[in-house]
Formats: sequence, structure tokens, C-alpha cells
Amino acid sequence: MDLLGETGGPVRIAGRELPRDELLGWASAVAAEIAGADAVAVHATASLETVAAVLGGLLAGVPVVPLPPDSGPAERAHILGDSGASMILAASDVRQAAGEPPLLPVDRLPRDGGGGTGVPADATALILYTSGTTGAPKGVLISRSAIAAGLDALAEAWAWTPGDVLVHGLPLFHVHGLVLGVLGALRVGSPLVHTGRPKPELYAAAAQDDGGSLFFGVPTVWSRTAADPSTAEALRSARLLVSGSAPLPVPVFERLAGLTGHRPVERYGMTETLITVSARADGDRRPGFVGTPLPGVETRLVAEDGSAVPDDGETPGELHVRAPLLFKGYLNRPEATAESFAPDGWFRTGDIASIGPDGWHRIVGRASTDLIKSGGYRIGAGEVENALLAHPAVREAAVVGTPHDDLGEQVTAYVVADGVGEHGLIDFVAERLSAHKRPRVVHLVDSLPRNAMGKVVKTRLGEL
Ligand code: ATP
Ligand code: MG
Repeated sequence: MDLLGETGGPVRIAGRELPRDELLGWASAVAAEIAGADAVAVHATASLETVAAVLGGLLAGVPVVPLPPDSGPAERAHILGDSGASMILAASDVRQAAGEPPLLPVDRLPRDGGGGTGVPADATALILYTSGTTGAPKGVLISRSAIAAGLDALAEAWAWTPGDVLVHGLPLFHVHGLVLGVLGALRVGSPLVHTGRPKPELYAAAAQDDGGSLFFGVPTVWSRTAADPSTAEALRSARLLVSGSAPLPVPVFERLAGLTGHRPVERYGMTETLITVSARADGDRRPGFVGTPLPGVETRLVAEDGSAVPDDGETPGELHVRAPLLFKGYLNRPEATAESFAPDGWFRTGDIASIGPDGWHRIVGRASTDLIKSGGYRIGAGEVENALLAHPAVREAAVVGTPHDDLGEQVTAYVVADGVGEHGLIDFVAERLSAHKRPRVVHLVDSLPRNAMGKVVKTRLGEL
């Protein structure tokens, strides 16, 4: 298949391994079963069945809709209904709800099928639903050519070769775990060790026993790794630790670097843009920054009034992207699609960033929840979160603006911590932040609301 490399290593998921040829034979059998369908869903457990099913869709030229396996009934019904998938590809023991499309038992298919035809590059390969951090998940149409462009740019940026062993345990229904974490390994040709779950001790075992060299994680994985020195030290033999999908807190970057000897590579992207900005394998890595645009990617900053924002490393603006790896549009949402592009065709990410004269990008956060407008100041939630996380007793922190009569919004923090009180925290950050950025209210909570990708759902903080 044009999207995958000619040769490559085996794929192992949670201890079960298949050589690549067998996996492709299995995918061909899937392709023969689904040929001609408009779209198929895949019950995307972390399993070889999921990989065979997704590859089958790619071979047949049928758009694949990955379904989060433990989503609630409402999210599942939304994705199935919205996408119009005509069958669900899954292992035969998966239980279905009434009224769902029929199941195709992938595990009962032979591993030496001969299905699959040439598929045009602009055909939709995947319909990936966004993480639902800011609202109902949207179906993002991703073409084969976007996937190919994104993966090639990444391979170049990270010096990713067939000699690497990729390790991660991320879910297989989002860009991170599926496109980068599975299709990336198959296109580059490196073996994949998927640990089943993204647990630090499983990553450490893969480094020691399987020669793992390239590790993908979301910030919660790296924060747990950094909290466990013996596990972190097992990653010294790695080549590259990569973090993405949410901001990597500066204190976590520093602790992880100290324990593993590797400064992590942070990268930024979204379902709509795959990966667009990243630090490089052979270059500088800076805590609190996500790097520079990948080869073939252009970015710019735009102010609320539509004017250009200077690349001075200070002034924030909305990040816009132009690149061959962009999505084709949102499924069934022509208005949302139209709104997400500027009149001159650049994609509006909805994220606020600043760009330095050297091209290094800092993500301030989402325009909708992470930019706090208080007393005439614009405050990035991430800077305040990093100041709180620098306190040794603080495990997690999320900062938002809440309504305030006088200031418009006030800086409000939700913190998970042991052995420090509200006043202790406010005094601590007072030494690190100018007065207008300090939280005026601190709520100590047991945990933060997170979604399947480990992202804090800030719109649900008010319920705590
Ligand atoms: P929804 O669009 O449904 O609200 P979502 O935006 O979280 O959900 P994704 O496409 O999975 O869904 O995530 C993309 C977003 O994640 C980006 O727009 C950005 O806000 C955030 N993000 C990704 N990587 C980073 C990073 N390195 N630093 C900061 N934010 C990041
Ligand atoms: Mg989004």
C-alpha cells in the first residue's frame, strides 16, 4: 500500500505480536469484506484486531471511524450516527448495543487475504473524532495524502528510521496513538511495541527488554514517570522521549530530563492538523515551548481584530496553519468547516500562541478557556499552572478565568496537592508571578476532570 513503507518490523500489542506481512494479509481479508462501503467503524481497543481493521479500510479505500471502546453509550451513538458507518469491525466477543450496525468479526478472518485496490491520494482515509475537550467531538476528515505528508515531516524532524523501536501505550482512536503511533511505525518501517496501556513501568520494561528507542506519551504519562525515579532511570537507554496532545508542564520537563538524561521533545498538533510544530531530534529543546514548524508547514499569528501579530516572542495571537497535512473539513458540519478557515484559506486553530524571532512557538492555550482577561490584562493559564506545579506538594493544577464584577474575570485555580493550603500556595506563587497573574481563588480538589486523552476538561471544573 502506498501509505506504508515497503518493509518493516513486527507489531506487538499488549504482548501479542504479528510480523508485518501477516498483518497486511489479515488487512487484505478485511478489505475484501468491506469493499464498497461508505464508511466503517472500528471498535478501537488496543489490539492487533484494531490495526488489521484500520489497515483493511486503508487498503479498500473505505473511510475508517475509530470508536473509543470504553466511551459511554451517548458518545458511541453520536459517533455511529454522525459518521453513518455501515458496520462495526471488532473482535467477535465485543458486545453491541441494540440498534447498532452489524459487527464484522475481524478475528475470524483469514490472515492471507488478497483484497485491496489502488486508492486516490485525496480519498478520505480516516474520520477521527476530536477529543471533546471543548464540546461534542467533531468528525475530522483526513485524507491519505495528509497522513503521508504529516508522517514524512515527522520522520525527518525526529530522525525516525527503521532502526528505531517505537514504544507507546496510547489509545488507538486518536491521531496520537493511531496515526503517529501505528501508521507512523508502519510507514517508517520501525517495529512497534504497544504496551497496552500508557504506564511508566511498562515503558521502562520495553526500554530494557525490547530495545525501545522512541517513546510517545501524553503529559500525564511523563508526569507519572518523573514522579518515579527508578522507572524514569530505566529510560536512559532511549533515544527520544516525545510529549504531545496537551501542554507538558515545565517542572515535569525538568524532572524528566534530570532523571532520564533526555530533554523531552515537545510537539503540538491537533486532529485537524496532525502534528504541525515540534522540537527536532538534532536540535534545541526548551521547556514551555513546542518548537518550530515541521518541514512543509507555515504558521502565523493573528490578533482578534484580524491584524498580524509580530513574531516578538511576547505578543499572543491566534495560531493559523497552512500545510499539506491539513484535514479536509468536518463531517456534516459545513458551517463549522467554513468558520475554521480564514478568508485566505489558512486554518484557524483556536489556540493562542506566541512566536519568537527564532521561530520557536509557545502555546498559551485555547482561546476559549486558557486566555484569561482580567483587569485589562491577558493572562495565559499555562504560566500560572506552571508556577503552581513548581511547588513540590502540587500534583496537578488547572487555571481558568471566572466572572468577577470589577476585573471582568479573575484568575481561579483548581489544585490537587498534599500538605499545602490555599494561603501557602498563593504565597508561593507570589514569588514567581506578577501581581495580576496570581490566583485570587484556589480550590483544593481530589482530582481534575480529564478525558480519554488525559486532557483536563476545563468546562467541567465549575462542577467540582
Ligand atoms: P475538541 O476539539 O473536541 O475540543 P481537542 O481540541 O482536545 O478536543 P484534539 O484534536 O485531540 O482535540 O487536541 C488538539 C488540541 O490539544 C490543540 O488544539 C491544543 O489546544 C492541544 N495541544 C496539543 N498539543 C499541545 C501542546 N504540546 N501544548 C499545548 N497544547 C497542546
Ligand atoms: Mg480541538
